Amino acid sequence: MRVAVYPGSFDPFTNGHLDILKRAAGIFDHIIIGVLVNPAKSCLFSPEERVEMISEVIKPFENVRAIHFNGLLVDFCQKVGACAIIRGLRAVSDYEYEMQMFSVNNRLSSEVETVFLMSSPKFSFLSSSIAKEVARYGGDVTGLVPENIQSAMLAKFADI
Ligand code: ADP
Repeated sequence: MRVAVYPGSFDPFTNGHLDILKRAAGIFDHIIIGVLVNPAKSCLFSPEERVEMISEVIKPFENVRAIHFNGLLVDFCQKVGACAIIRGLRAVSDYEYEMQMFSVNNRLSSEVETVFLMSSPKFSFLSSSIAKEVARYGGDVTGLVPENIQSAMLAKFADI
């Protein structure tokens, strides 16, 4: 069975992430969305909230589940028996960072391959940060994030 990890902050999960996920789920037997717990990065949603929201979105997919992790990505891959890491590429601006991540992960474990999927053009402008900026100032995020995440963002910003 070919298992892949799709890692990220997913703060929050967007329709761009969903697009990559759907395509990856058609290639691999099983996908594990690894929600990164990074104490150095201040996130809008807690790792538990992010996993819960993503789990709601991925209900229709039988071969996908979401869990949070901390520590090294390659260690997480080994723990869950993944042979690949999925990453999405939007623009040239993603390239340098992704190259760096690939190089370090490959150095740490050459057994785990990184697979890059190009963003669909309609999502190439979309990031979690853009979705948060729009929602923060009361803009309509329909089409940018799944419905349950839209409500969760509205509730979060109403609280702040
Ligand atoms: P990270 O903090 O690890 O970059 P993100 O949650 O921002 O985590 O992104 C996770 C992955 O999803 C990355 O590979 C990123 O390039 C990809 N991604 C983010 N937004 C999009 C999008 N709109 N289309 C395709 N891939 C995307």
